[in-house]
Amino acid sequence: MFKLVCGAGNEDCESVKRLVFVYACAGCKLFDISARKEILESAKEGGKLAGKNDIQYCVSIGIKGDKHITKAKINTSKCIKCANCVRNCPNDAILSSVVIDEKKCIGCGICYEKCPSGAITMEEKDVNYREVLPYMVNNGVKYIELHIMGHDKADLAQKWKVINDCNPEFASICIDRENFGNKEVLERIKDMISIRKPYTTIIQADGIPMSGGNDDFKTTLQAVAMAEVVQNANLPVYIMLSGGTNSKTAELARMCGIDFWGIAIGSWARKIVKPYVSKEDFWENKELQNKAINIAKELIESCG
Ligand code: SF4
Ligand code: SF4
Repeated sequence: MFKLVCGAGNEDCESVKRLVFVYACAGCKLFDISARKEILESAKEGGKLAGKNDIQYCVSIGIKGDKHITKAKINTSKCIKCANCVRNCPNDAILSSVVIDEKKCIGCGICYEKCPSGAITMEEKDVNYREVLPYMVNNGVKYIELHIMGHDKADLAQKWKVINDCNPEFASICIDRENFGNKEVLERIKDMISIRKPYTTIIQADGIPMSGGNDDFKTTLQAVAMAEVVQNANLPVYIMLSGGTNSKTAELARMCGIDFWGIAIGSWARKIVKPYVSKEDFWENKELQNKAINIAKELIESCG
């Protein structure tokens, strides 16, 4: 299974519509989108334009402390207008006037790391998950994903309960090892899946979240390593690799004996089609569309 990650924090309806269109035309059947009503509608529109009626959506939320629910904020009094952030943002979320388009910010933190004057902070922005998750399930969403890399266990318990009360076909737990060691990661997973039926949970083994800017083995190494940790625990779950995934992921995972159910690709998948989907005349220009679709097809095939 190939999953295109549009971005848990990506609230840019037009970009989601274009990404779903391109990757659906290329054969992708599962899309990870932000848990927002307008984003689900835009994704469905993209799928419809691609002429596909067998597309599934996975909506993502996060607990407090997880970077997937953060947005960058610029303190203009500290900014020296060097434009490092503008040049390095992978999602074109920072305008040349050094103003952030919040809808496009996916919370990757690259601008925060590149800012020489400490002018950027990362701030949390949560959704009204109690209202929006039941809406999603009632509108055909079969997968709900929770990003759990934060220390707030009460928030985790509340959100996990709401997800389970919604009764999606699959719940997905997205976890990496940046803040915790293997032991705590596995304890969290075991605790969470104890209330679920076997094989109704996907563990999205995140290597280094939102790090997939390159297409080499090194970039995808941590995703495979994280998957191995989960696999060795022999849990009744499906494993999906993510976080630094690219066209080398399947090959490396097989070399390492990982029995994976799927590969979720975000940063790399979006980057390779960006020169086409970001063009103003995208919808009128079939040549642009076909170029993007062919590139997407190659990536999907590499994951097969
Ligand atoms: S670099 Fe990442 S965190 Fe900063 S504005 Fe762009 S998407 Fe948001
Ligand atoms: S990197 Fe920092 S200092 Fe440079 S333009 Fe961006 S916010 Fe301003």
